[in-house]
Amino acid sequence: MKIEELKKYNEQLPELHTVIEAVQKSRPLTLEEGMLLYKNYPLEVVQTLADYRRERLHGKKVFYNRNIHIEPTNKCVYACKFCSFYRSPKSSSEEGVWDYTFEDIEEILESHKTQNLTEVHITGGVHPTHELDWWTELVRRVKKILPGIHVKAYTAVEIAFMAKQEGISFKQVLLELQKAGVDSLPGGGAEILNSEVRKKIAGGKAPSSHWLEIHKTAHELRIQSNATMLYGHVETLEHRLEHMIEIRELQEQTDGFNAFIPLKYRNVNNALSHIKETQEEDDLRNFAVSRLMVQNIKHLKAYWVMLGIETAQKSLSYGVDDLDGTISDTTKIYSMAGSIDHPAMTVMQLKQIIENQDFIPVERDSIYNPI
Ligand code: SF4
Repeated sequence: MKIEELKKYNEQLPELHTVIEAVQKSRPLTLEEGMLLYKNYPLEVVQTLADYRRERLHGKKVFYNRNIHIEPTNKCVYACKFCSFYRSPKSSSEEGVWDYTFEDIEEILESHKTQNLTEVHITGGVHPTHELDWWTELVRRVKKILPGIHVKAYTAVEIAFMAKQEGISFKQVLLELQKAGVDSLPGGGAEILNSEVRKKIAGGKAPSSHWLEIHKTAHELRIQSNATMLYGHVETLEHRLEHMIEIRELQEQTDGFNAFIPLKYRNVNNALSHIKETQEEDDLRNFAVSRLMVQNIKHLKAYWVMLGIETAQKSLSYGVDDLDGTISDTTKIYSMAGSIDHPAMTVMQLKQIIENQDFIPVERDSIYNPI
């Protein structure tokens, strides 16, 4: 459906006329308008609005990249209830813990050397004893083996812990990481920024104010980043909308976020396993609402690794313009939570998925320059 055809709903749907005008003029939607998108408007209406916005930004282009993940450890000093990945630092390898040495990681990098990678994404558990030097040395070694590679490394939660450990400011940590070769930050660790929700699901780790401050400081240092939102657990729709508005307001100030990434909560093997996962229709609507609410972040990413290929493919018609990467079976964060086992996609497969939906695949680098 085209946006002009939505007029037929004007009589039935509250405020539709105003919402259409806001989307056309790229005016930020209010929380109340966001709630209408979630609760009152039929899915096809929200889809049409999101698709219009997507098309205005990117035409028929859908982005992908060639990347691998490095997850140096799943030992973690925290124990977020939604997390299936972490193990207590006291756990043994029989209990599923790993803690790579530099040599282990170098071996992984060497084995991917011929894949024309453009990005290495590094994130993992918050290690109890590794200090900032260890993390900077890791980045240096990555760059030595893969010269010119873009290193997207360490979530704000990991960075907050490094600052605490060293007794230095977030800015000092970021400067050290930048000096070592970190090019951008991933968006993880935001979960839901509401403090009460955060206390319930991720008590103990960096509060949302720290997450926001670290990204703001990074942007001021010209380190770009992404922003995630973990949805589908104990949060309300209002919490999601408030989260998007906070991210959007920071973007207004800094213009440093490249992509907004809604992450679906997966319920296998964690302390919230009693919560049912969201249905595909909810996921698609959530992508569309994200596209419309966070109107000032250019890219909306669907991690096929977490969503499954079919849903990720459908999300392209709900505002998504980026599917992320080839991955090469290098992440366990999502498979341990019940998503795809051994995730890997060839460039050919990614292109096919995109073309099958009548979009144009575009390989990108980490800051969305076409390659
Ligand atoms: S989400 Fe991150 S910080 Fe929380 S337990 Fe898992 S690895 Fe640790």
